[in-house]
Formats: sequence, C-alpha cells, structure tokens
Amino acid sequence: MSEENRGRLYLSATPIGNLEDMTYRGVRMLAEADLIAAEDTRHTRKLLSHYDIHTPATSYHEHNKLTKGPELVEKMLSGAVVVCVSDAGLPGISDPGAHLAQLAIEAGIQVSPLPGANAALSALICSGLDTTAFTFYGFLPKSSKKRRELLERIKCSPETLIFYEAPHHLKETLKQLCEALGEERPAAVARELTKHYEEFNRRSLGELLDYYQANEPRGEFVLIISGYDAEKATSTQQAEEVTDPVQMVEAFEQQGLSRKEAMRETAKKLGISRRDVYNILLKA
Ligand code: SAM
Repeated sequence: MSEENRGRLYLSATPIGNLEDMTYRGVRMLAEADLIAAEDTRHTRKLLSHYDIHTPATSYHEHNKLTKGPELVEKMLSGAVVVCVSDAGLPGISDPGAHLAQLAIEAGIQVSPLPGANAALSALICSGLDTTAFTFYGFLPKSSKKRRELLERIKCSPETLIFYEAPHHLKETLKQLCEALGEERPAAVARELTKHYEEFNRRSLGELLDYYQANEPRGEFVLIISGYDAEKATSTQQAEEVTDPVQMVEAFEQQGLSRKEAMRETAKKLGISRRDVYNILLKA
C-alpha cells in the first residue's frame, strides 16, 4: 500500500472534567475518523453525544491491547483513520494508548497528537511551585518495597515532582511522602480540576496530611511537590548546628526569613527570650 493510502493514528486528549475542554480540531477529527478506539466506549459515548458525533467506537484498553492493538493496526494499514482516546486527558499518560502508538510506528503508520487537557500539567501550572523542571511519576508503585525504593531514589531530586493519587489512598501516600521527603517540603494538591469543586491546597506536606486527616479526601487528585532544595537544607543544617545566637539569626536570614522571624526562631531553638537574642545582636 502506498504511503498516501495508509490510514493514520491520532491520539486525542479528552476533557478531565469539563466537557467544554475539547479543541475544535479534536471534535472535528473525532467526527471525521473511521473509528474511535476508546478505553471505555460507554464513558466516551457521553462525550460523543455531547458533540453529536456518530463515529463508531471500539474498546481498546489495558486488558485487550495485545489482541486489539494488531487488529487496529491492520485497519490503519488498510486506510482507516483511527482516533485513540482514554477516559480522560491524554491517552498514554497513566492510561492506554502508548502501546498502540508503538505498534503503529513499527508498522510505518503516521501517528499524530490531538493535544488538550491533562491533569498533571494543569495542576503543575497552577501549583505555585517551580515549573522549569519537573518529573511526572503518575501513580506510585503499589508494592510497598518498590514505593520505598522510588521515594528513596527521588528524595533529593531537585525537580518538582508530580503524582496522581486516588482519594482513598491520599492520606497514606501523604504520610509516606512526609516520612521520605520531610514534613516541611512545600507542596500542592489539585482536586477536581476543571470541575465544579475544583480546589488547590497549597501547603507543606505535613500540613496537607493534617488537613486531609481532618477533611476526608473526595474526588480526583494530583499531588505536586517541590524538589529538594539543597541550599535551604544546608542552611537549615547549619542553623541547627550553630549555638551562637548571632550566627543562628544569620543562618535563618539566609533561608529567607526576615530579621524578626529569624530572631523568633533563634530564641525558640536556644530556649531563650527574644529580648535576649535582641540584646546579644545589639552588642555584636
Ligand atoms: N490520562 C489522564 C491525564 O492525561 O491526565 C490521567 C488518567 S489517570 C488514569 C487518572 C488520574 O488522573 C486520577 O486518579 C487523578 O489522579 C488524575 N486526574 C484526572 N482527572 C483529574 C481532575 N479533574 N482533577 C484532578 N486530578 C485528575
């Protein structure tokens, strides 16, 4: 078959909550395709009827990908245009799709994205944390050994970390993250993105754990965690090591605390009054 007559595979984003989050192109391509390969055809049907799309849909998911993938490739080799979608967001991101893309590429079929909603990046950009470099981990491994190993490996990664988590595991995961990365680590939890109860909870890991211990987690969650700040860790360690109030105030100031806050922290650490710290600083 000539290159022109070959079909094509599109991997299309679908909304992560708000049905309006489809691009014009995404809607048109879903309507014009020969076949939609959907993670769950009943779920995708709601989206298709919202946009009055009548393209036939077939199921393609984790449990049938080994048989369904080659069938879809055959269809594309015979000229069919297939759009692959998952239940929400980008196929291939903690969802089926990547395997079909690999099969299609191996068969010489053109594979193209139809970009759009994605929970991880939507959460990241509104987290208030560093967006210049980040690592997406999706769901943490289920096995506690693998989980511990991963957390041990990434505890000093300087990049922002992104995780997906189910509501019934959120508290346990936050607890493990506190143990591995420290309660002070700045973080943000994004809940129910693009939906009615969308919420951003920007606090330290320890505060987030306290919050969700008091407020039962409900809905869908993305966890964004600040990377390891080596400079801050060093100055905290230095502040902990010094016992001289003047040096301690300076070390706290280097961490970004104001003079007043640094004096308060120093007084607390040394078990003396703020006035004493003030007088020592004056003499120095
Ligand atoms: N393919 C999707 C994407 O591109 O974002 C991710 C699918 S993964 C199976 C589902 C997980 O994504 C949820 O458990 C949750 O962690 C996250 N998620 C999906 N929709 C979300 C939303 N509206 N708000 C917050 N998190 C969401």
